[in-house]
This record gives sequence, C-alpha cells and structure tokens, in this order.
Amino acid sequence: MRVKRAAKYGFCSGVRVADIKVKRFAKGGGRGAILGQVVHNERVVDEMARLGVKTVKSMDEVNDDVIVFSAHGVPPSYHEAARRRGLEVLDTTCRFVYDIHHESQRALADGAHLVFIGDPNHREVIGYTHDLDGALFHIVHTVEEATAIDWSAYPAIRILYQTTLNADEYEDVVRVIEQANANTARADTICYATKENQDAARVLASDPEIDIVLVVGGKHSANTRHLHDICARSKPSYLVQDAGDIDAAWFQGVDCVGLTAGASTPDYVIDEVEARLRALAHL
Ligand code: SF4
Repeated sequence: MRVKRAAKYGFCSGVRVADIKVKRFAKGGGRGAILGQVVHNERVVDEMARLGVKTVKSMDEVNDDVIVFSAHGVPPSYHEAARRRGLEVLDTTCRFVYDIHHESQRALADGAHLVFIGDPNHREVIGYTHDLDGALFHIVHTVEEATAIDWSAYPAIRILYQTTLNADEYEDVVRVIEQANANTARADTICYATKENQDAARVLASDPEIDIVLVVGGKHSANTRHLHDICARSKPSYLVQDAGDIDAAWFQGVDCVGLTAGASTPDYVIDEVEARLRALAHL
C-alpha cells in the first residue's frame, strides 16, 4: 500500500505563527491561559497545557497574568476587557482575520451593510460581529436565510467570507443577495492557505491512482471538515484526529491512500498517521 500526500496540506502561516508565539512564551517561563483553543486541534491544546498554557472558555477563568487570543481573533472589546482586568494580552490573531476586521470597518465607514458568509457560532465570525450594532450586519449561511431578507432595503452591501470557507459552495447564497441589490460588492476574504489546501485536496482525491483519502485534523476544525467534504465527493474519505483513529478495515484491497490535513494539524501528527499507514502496509 502506497501513501501519497497532497501537494499542500496542514499548518497554515497563521496557525504556525500562533503555535510559535505560544510555545516561545511558555518555554521562556511564561504562564497564561488561552481563550478558546489556540487552534482547533486537540493535540495542540494538550501540548500547550503541558507547557503551562491551559485553554479556558471565558476570561473569568484566567488566574494568570497573561491571556492569549487565538489565531481566530476576538471581538475588539475583548482587548479592552482584558486590560480592565489587568491582564497582559498575547495576541496570536492571524493577519488575514485582522484584514477582515479592517475591511468591515472600512465598509461601514462607506455606509455599506455588512453580510458575513459563515457560521454564526464560529469564533472568527463572533470576533467580527460581537461588538457591532445588530442593524449593521447579517450573518448568512444558506440560500433560505438569504432569501428571507429584503436586501433592497440597504443602499450598499459588502459581502465578507469567513476565511476558511469554500467560496464555490456559497455562490448561490451570494447570488441571491446580488440579484436583490445591484450595489453589492464582494470582499475576497477567503485566505490563500485554505484555498491552496482545498485545491490540492481536490487534485489528490481525483487522482485515479488513489483509492481512499485520509484527512487529518481536529474534530472542531471547520477547515478540516471542508477538506473532508471535498475529498468525499471523489473518493471514500475518512477524517481522523490522529493515528489512533485509523481503522485497519478501511484498507482492504486498497493500493494507494491519499493523505491531507487541515490548517490546524501539526506536522508531527501527520507524520504519525503516515507511519501508522506504512506499518499497516507491512502487516
Ligand atoms: S486558515 Fe488562513 S485565516 Fe485561518 S489562521 Fe490560517 S492563514 Fe490565518
């Protein structure tokens, strides 16, 4: 059994920088708490906790002097809230997420109504919208949601995408808005890392040599789930968090396994999965 990796997979620049910043802080003796998972990967979360930087769900749980804001970013008011509590902020927000914060402020200054295409419960989207007056924006995820709103009521609309979405899947949603309001502009906010990983996953899954695909990533990682959806359209595909999730029964009669990984998956986890596949090949 052979293993072929996608041309692009795994840690994106934003997650790599966040990982480095937190580890450098912890290895220098720093102690603090991360608000929400620093990246959506349980192995990374465990590793950070071992280094002395545990993950918390709210600022009230922070007993140390430092709070870490994750690559997904936070609402701007959280910075002020941290300062009021006397907490120092270690900010690992990805620069592409900051780009969307800035773009949404520019659009509001231009008088546009904001439409975020994304998951209202995702921390990145909460970061964009939490501090805004509810009349200034909508979060839309489905055609049904888009159809239920009178978009003609707004003089201008700016569409912003959650960074990790597959834009093609939301084309129908955006078209509903554009057809209802001619003064609609799209901001290209899907991050390049997500797109590169998705394009490479598509190529991998359509490779005729490959029988099945393994997608490695955290259970709560939206971009990992999107990669899995893309691969599953072409080949039987399994989402695994690490080597321990692999089931030998999947590989009956399989000659070649495709391997890809979400943007929050560390290199060592991907290597462990490949090592497990190679061990199975020799059984
Ligand atoms: S997936 Fe893109 S936006 Fe998200 S952290 Fe990585 S580089 Fe930044």
